[in-house]
Amino acid sequence: MIQEEVYKHIKIETVERNIKNKTYTVYLLKFKESIIGKSCSKCLEILPLSNFNNSINGIASKHAYCKTCHRNYTKQKEKEAKAKKLFEKLLKEKNIDKLNKLIQCLES
Ligand SMILES: [Zn+2]
Repeated sequence: MIQEEVYKHIKIETVERNIKNKTYTVYLLKFKESIIGKSCSKCLEILPLSNFNNSINGIASKHAYCKTCHRNYTKQKEKEAKAKKLFEKLLKEKNIDKLNKLIQCLES
C-alpha cells in the first residue's frame, strides 16, 4: 500500500469518559475501523495499544494510563503508603522531632 493510501485509513476519534464525576477525553487512533492506539489519561500522549496494560473495563480493553505513567503512579502510591506507615509508627512512639522532620519532607 502506498503511503497516501495508508493515511486515508487513519483517523482520530474522541470519546468522552466519565469517571468519578470527572469527564475525560480519550483520543482513539484508528486504522480501518480498528483501534491501533489511544491517548494516555495522564501524559496525554497518543501511543500504540501495546504501550498500555490490559484492563477489563478500559477502552479497547486497555488501561487509562500508559505503562510508563502506570509505573510512576504505582511508585508514588508505594511511597505514600510507606510514609503513612512511618508516620503512624512515629505517632505511636510520640516522636515529635522525627514527625516534624517527616512533615517538612512531605511539604517540600
Ligand atoms: Zn502516559
